[in-house]
Amino acid sequence: MEVLKITPRGYCHGVVDAFRIAKRVREETQGPVHMLGMLVHNTHATDDLQQQGIALVDQPDRLRGLEQVKEGTVIFTAHGVSPQVKQRAIELGLKPVDATCSDVVRTHELVADLARQGYEVVYIGRKGHPEPEGVVGEAPGKVFLVQDPADIDALELKGDRVAVTCQTTLSVWDTEDLIGRVQSRYPNAEVHNEICRATQERQEAAVEAAKLVDLVIVVGSPRSSNSLRLVEVVKKLGGKPAYLVDRMEDIETAWFKGATRVGVTSGASTPTQLTRRVIEHIEAMEGSAG
Ligand code: SF4
Repeated sequence: MEVLKITPRGYCHGVVDAFRIAKRVREETQGPVHMLGMLVHNTHATDDLQQQGIALVDQPDRLRGLEQVKEGTVIFTAHGVSPQVKQRAIELGLKPVDATCSDVVRTHELVADLARQGYEVVYIGRKGHPEPEGVVGEAPGKVFLVQDPADIDALELKGDRVAVTCQTTLSVWDTEDLIGRVQSRYPNAEVHNEICRATQERQEAAVEAAKLVDLVIVVGSPRSSNSLRLVEVVKKLGGKPAYLVDRMEDIETAWFKGATRVGVTSGASTPTQLTRRVIEHIEAMEGSAG
């Protein structure tokens, strides 16, 4: 089977930085080290970090998660945390280490600044994902999390000064539609599109590549927002089937029936080695495609 290796793919700067910070902390720290949620949303990377001696606190609510940490160091993940979580960690006598991606930090600062200036901030993001949880915590009561058109239609803002921004790892195209919907309700809304460059470049490359292949494989974990969005944009804008592969065992031969060319990309937190193994596996499938 011919494989088109889509570029750019895989690790972004925020993920690389988070790994570097976690590794340094583990090497330099004597006592227990915890990550408050998956450092980056990848199963293999998380397993690897746990093997290195960094305990996972797998609790979607970061404040509750903190209460489970008895002592030692706690690493805030690449997705960021709210100021309340940072404060609570100190109150509990823990040693916090911040591995938040610089792009996410920028969104926190933007939202806090807009709220200080008196804006009502509409924040487009995924409910239940840690990044919105952290950002909304910058200005509770002044930031309004919306995920879909119905949420936007249900907004009841004063509307004098409205700003709209978003999670870093959303679909470029869906977010444009949602921003447009906010603007149709609040025509003076100030737009701050915060989709990060890594997410945007990977999505644009995947959609372009989809035109040249029969299907696209996205190597990434189900909790990874940017990996899930890659699957979505390939299907919706590239018009081709797309499948998420977290482990080698996820690959189904039936997907490749009648296919001659397969695109492979990977999420921003997917280990390069895993993507390489998936590519080699698909290349070796020649003849079995039918
Ligand atoms: Fe940062 Fe974007 Fe990577 Fe997330 S996907 S860690 S926001 S660079």
